Amino acid sequence: MAIKTAPAAHQSAANSKSLTIGVLALQGDYEAHARAFKSAGANTVLVRKPLELSGLDGLVLPGGESTTMLKFLEKNNFFDALGKFASTMPCFATCAGCILLAREVLHPKQRSLGVLDATVERNAYGRQIDSTILTLPTELPGGPLEMVFIRSPRIARVGQGVQVLARRDGFPTLVRQGHLLAATFHPEMTSDSRVQQLFLDIVRAHQTR
Ligand code: GLN
Repeated sequence: MAIKTAPAAHQSAANSKSLTIGVLALQGDYEAHARAFKSAGANTVLVRKPLELSGLDGLVLPGGESTTMLKFLEKNNFFDALGKFASTMPCFATCAGCILLAREVLHPKQRSLGVLDATVERNAYGRQIDSTILTLPTELPGGPLEMVFIRSPRIARVGQGVQVLARRDGFPTLVRQGHLLAATFHPEMTSDSRVQQLFLDIVRAHQTR
């Protein structure tokens, strides 16, 4: 098994060598995302100010607490700068990040960047104690994926331009809308790097448009 996977991992690391992936580092588990993308072969940069968005090939919006992230984003025009970035540049959003990207946020209603054509309900599966790890089918090559759900939101609706790559109880957990990839779970918390590799593929495809 190790012999089989090593060449593929080596090759994808080489392919993504020149990609610079920013990780929004206002709050939440940004360090885990930076580690995951580093081991997937990308250069990573922690982003704390609007100016630090320039020069990135793609950006990760991590999980954490979306209300706290919003408070930071509302300073220094960061909210508008991020919305502008996400409307054209590849973004990978997990959990709280997915809440930030969505067109509509419920439970309760909350301001969001509005670029991902989806309605997202916060904390839809209950409290911290209801957090869970499930292995569920996906459209990704390689089959089912381990998904860590932590006070997870639920994607209640997606628009026509949104592709659903995995579901939990019928509700989307991993979705793609062109240059945007969003998950309601935490791929950075497992050793399976298929979601990170998919995002790097999206970034590379975006560059050769
Ligand atoms: N419940 C959090 C929120 O509403 C999201 C949880 C997470 O990112 N794991 O922002």
